[in-house]
Amino acid sequence: MRDINHFIGGSAFTGASGRFSDVFNPNTGEVQARVQLATTGEVDRAVQAAQAAFDGWSSTNPQRRARVMFEFKRLVEANMGELAEMLSSEHGKVIADSKGDIQRGLEVIEFACGIPHALKGEYTWGAGPGIDVYSMRQPLGVVSGITPFNFPGMIPMWMFGVAIAVGNTFVLKPSERDPSVPVRLAELMMEAGAPAGVLNVVHGDKTAVDAILTHPQVHAVSFVGSSDIAHYVYQLGAAHGKRVQAMGGAKNHGIVLPDADMDQVIKDLSGAAFGSAGERCMALPVVVPVGKKTADELRERMVAEIDTLRVGVSTDAGAHYGPVVTAAHKARVEGWIDQGVKDGAELVVDGRGFKLQGHENGYFVGPSLFDHVTPEMESYKEEIFGPVLQIMRAASFEEALSLPSKHQYGNGVAIFTQNGRAARDFAARVNVGMVGINVPIPVPVAYHTFGGWKRSAFGDTNQHGMEGLKFWTKVKTVTARWPDSELEHADSSFVIPTMA
Ligand code: NAD
Repeated sequence: MRDINHFIGGSAFTGASGRFSDVFNPNTGEVQARVQLATTGEVDRAVQAAQAAFDGWSSTNPQRRARVMFEFKRLVEANMGELAEMLSSEHGKVIADSKGDIQRGLEVIEFACGIPHALKGEYTWGAGPGIDVYSMRQPLGVVSGITPFNFPGMIPMWMFGVAIAVGNTFVLKPSERDPSVPVRLAELMMEAGAPAGVLNVVHGDKTAVDAILTHPQVHAVSFVGSSDIAHYVYQLGAAHGKRVQAMGGAKNHGIVLPDADMDQVIKDLSGAAFGSAGERCMALPVVVPVGKKTADELRERMVAEIDTLRVGVSTDAGAHYGPVVTAAHKARVEGWIDQGVKDGAELVVDGRGFKLQGHENGYFVGPSLFDHVTPEMESYKEEIFGPVLQIMRAASFEEALSLPSKHQYGNGVAIFTQNGRAARDFAARVNVGMVGINVPIPVPVAYHTFGGWKRSAFGDTNQHGMEGLKFWTKVKTVTARWPDSELEHADSSFVIPTMA
């Protein structure tokens, strides 16, 4: 059995916990490797490696740090094929989608290549008589990222790309379900010229996460995963004095107004609901057609579209989506379909019990479609995270606007219409963090910023862009004067200095 090791201080590190987690090939259901689960002491070892690298890395000038990012980008591009295959074999998403996963992360690395410009501080000449004020952004020290299974390339790069470029050193705790790509990224970072210890990877479960959240030398933690764990991470990290951002689950709605271009809507919905087997926090698992005519047409055309979908192994270039990540997740998704039926929704297309010929033990779930879903249903309130689309019929624009606004999650939302005024009104009033207008998956570009609202994110800064830069740095503000000691001697002042 192949073991997946930690990566600490620039090289592979074999843990001694004696605890492992199986890593499956979701296409076949076979165990393909086992990943070590770190002890508290092994997490500390990674933190010490990062601490040892911090002084040198943080005092390396920003242009030189950016050059490491440029080279890292080149190396990831050169190794794209190998990385995408590795990613697909553990996650199950199709190869083209794995390339997209890595590419979206690389786009944050491109942002990080411009870090000397982004890091420039503020300056006021003459804020008072002979007084200048300036601010600088400094790295925090050793920082950490804890990432989910569904984007094992992109999400680690969201975090360490910006954190390392600004001068921090990093301990990454990736998902134990698909841990190989993060390790490979750390190797490539060393090859790109980052000194040993700048990026470390420890694998693990709650023990490793708790060790990070309570470690006195870890100054900031970025988390992405499900909401209950995000909330736990936010609370425990904050209780230990850390800066924490914790992104959680999602239930994104697509609102379809009667004037929408239905040909395009059907294509957009199909990709956004079923792509990556629905395992995306920016998937569109709920569609809200406004008016009966829109709903009836959408339902009829969606059924026909689903009929054309091809579920296949992740290496099948013709497949639209592959298996879900584990047998447990397949059971969970199918459990939610059972629940939807119990809730009283109409199951129009049933993806349960789907078997792919020749891969009967793979974790495949067929596409499912529900109609007449209502807000009280458990299967609506919670995230399913599988290839399941729920139709919720709304009678009016206001009702459609209220559904995503009132939902416990507020990650993304999309509206499909040709009416600019309605779209503008919707974007301004909807209680959700990321909005698409005729864009089904509105993941912002890397130099903007990613983050949801309500139970989709705890903390107040987003991922990447200038918000990411803020999260991974602290501001120092300097007020300076250079009096001529021959001429100016001010008296002591016992009153707070003002600009009055
Ligand atoms: P998860 O919450 O199970 O795991 C996320 C991380 O937490 C992993 O590293 C895991 O090892 C760790 N973890 C698991 N159980 C833990 C525990 N009890 N205590 C401490 N740490 C624990 O999430 P997942 O299944 O890997 O990912 C899917 C979830 O992530 C979905 O809910 C999805 O919506 C969400 N997600 C959100 C975003 C976003 O930006 N909002 C992006 C991607 C995924």
